[in-house]
Amino acid sequence: MSNLNEQMADRYKNNFLKEIEEQAEMGEWVKMCMQCGLCSGSCPTHFHSGWDHPPQEIFMLIRAGKREEVLNSQGMYMCTSCYNCYVRCPRKVPVTHVMHGIAEYAYRIGRAPKAQPTLHLSKTFWTNATKYGRVNEVQLTQSLYFKDGIGSGIKKAMEMQKEALGLVMAGRLNPMEALGMGHKCKDVSGIHKMLAKAEELEAKNKAAKADTAGKE
Ligand code: SF4
Ligand code: SF4
Repeated sequence: MSNLNEQMADRYKNNFLKEIEEQAEMGEWVKMCMQCGLCSGSCPTHFHSGWDHPPQEIFMLIRAGKREEVLNSQGMYMCTSCYNCYVRCPRKVPVTHVMHGIAEYAYRIGRAPKAQPTLHLSKTFWTNATKYGRVNEVQLTQSLYFKDGIGSGIKKAMEMQKEALGLVMAGRLNPMEALGMGHKCKDVSGIHKMLAKAEELEAKNKAAKADTAGKE
């Protein structure tokens, strides 16, 4: 267990619901779930074999104090943010946001699965988009294609070459983006300052939350 994971497990002992309520963004909504199952039934991706626990089950497991089962689950990383559950929940639980909040918390305490593909996509997309203030599609594609090595990257690129050429011919893909050229936000340094400020505020907020919880 990572240090932070150990500290949190120790601090909250057997009260995993409280841990999620206090530490995960929007975690305070978990107790509002009445287990009707509408979210899981509305979820377009819950049938995927990697999705071991859809939202309703994740919420039930949290309330049952099944810390290890939730933190070992792939469930919260499988959400595609389609918002079906969000608009249909009769208790108005912001399911999408709660799922992402739990995933972010698991990641923060070092419990995210190492090779989780959607987690890898999120991190890669974030790094790419924040670099220039706009997504560099060629570099993003390269990062994703080559994540498992050169051989499989070349194989994927060869498979998709017809589509890539079509996009280039239609003016929808700029090959120069591979070299860091192409479209960028006009004020990249302004975007970076804004993101740094947002990170600072978020870190303060999380530290205050952890501090308050520690004094209880
Ligand atoms: S739809 Fe809402 S109330 Fe029903 S199981 Fe999902 S989160 Fe709970
Ligand atoms: S927002 Fe996520 S959890 Fe909700 S229905 Fe869509 S994929 Fe499923």
